[in-house]
Amino acid sequence: MVRLLKRFVCCESPTDSKPAVDNFGRVVAAEWRRRGAKVECLRRKDAGNHLRITWPANSARRPGTSARDGQILVLGHMDTVYETGTIKKMPFRVSRGRAFGPGAFDMKGGLVIALFAVDTLAREDWLPRRRIVFLWTSDEETGSKSSREAIENEARRSAAVLVLEPAGGPEGQLKTRRKATGTAEIVITGRAAHAGLDPGAGVNAVHELALQATQLMRLNNPRRGITVNPTIAQGGTRSNVIPAEAHLTVDLRAETLADMRRIERRLKALRPALPGARVAVEGGFSRPPLERRASAALFAHARKLADQLGFFVGECLAGGGSDGNFTAALGVPTLDGLGAVGHSAHSADEQVIVAALPERAALLAALLATL
Ligand SMILES: [Zn+2]
Repeated sequence: MVRLLKRFVCCESPTDSKPAVDNFGRVVAAEWRRRGAKVECLRRKDAGNHLRITWPANSARRPGTSARDGQILVLGHMDTVYETGTIKKMPFRVSRGRAFGPGAFDMKGGLVIALFAVDTLAREDWLPRRRIVFLWTSDEETGSKSSREAIENEARRSAAVLVLEPAGGPEGQLKTRRKATGTAEIVITGRAAHAGLDPGAGVNAVHELALQATQLMRLNNPRRGITVNPTIAQGGTRSNVIPAEAHLTVDLRAETLADMRRIERRLKALRPALPGARVAVEGGFSRPPLERRASAALFAHARKLADQLGFFVGECLAGGGSDGNFTAALGVPTLDGLGAVGHSAHSADEQVIVAALPERAALLAALLATL
């Protein structure tokens, strides 16, 4: 598993480089073809291509089951947040039971786990009850704009969705809840004037921005899992000019669909505080929450399987979103965090706990065999 992880990590695949992601896609596709899977390339012009993999290729079913039972969808992404060349500063290495490298944890480890899970099933001559579709996308790290439709289409045909995003914490918790996430852009318009000669003729957009930021902070409710945080503030042009424009970027998170809708309504209702100022709100939530009712049954099943395999698996809430948010919002049972165990995603210290890789492959194989 480490050898394959090394090959995957050394083949860099930043989201914004189509040639790089496509090249990595070819490496991944070859691994699946070698295992007799059917690999379709979903071509995209403005993003990397996605891979839709059916295994086993002929989709033979166990006797007594029908196509109406639905397929199992396994989600993963091939892109990373690291620009090409990062591998030189952050080379793949294994030290004290940890494998380091750009994207090793998020989530090339998950892609390796999937291959070893099907190897296990093949070796045991297991015929899955349902068709299994692996959808490996190219743009998860930037919001899945070019893959969302394909993800949702596959999910609608699925009885369950398993997401190979990294596990939570070094204990390898499964992610049974994920917050809704999004970004709002507040565009504030005032009126320019000379700050010394005629300040009263102006409407200070930076002042309005400050008032809006204060207002937005009141929407926070950590107990309910709601966070609303102004993260980027821009405004003004010259030190002696009353600023006519300002711009505020706001990070939005909520644990439930009801709270997400509530925050959306509050954003829509924002009004300027200063006479003569204008406030426009763009953007908003881009991923709905993954609520526990979408994951509870799958999690209980996974925990039982882990128990039979001889290890414990817990659950956690993730503050960030994944493609599992989309499938859960469609009402399709979704379990996330089935990928590698480790920590420090998106940082120079990103690492995978090597000893947990076979455990996770065994858990995924058991899920695919029994769902
Ligand atoms: Zn990820």
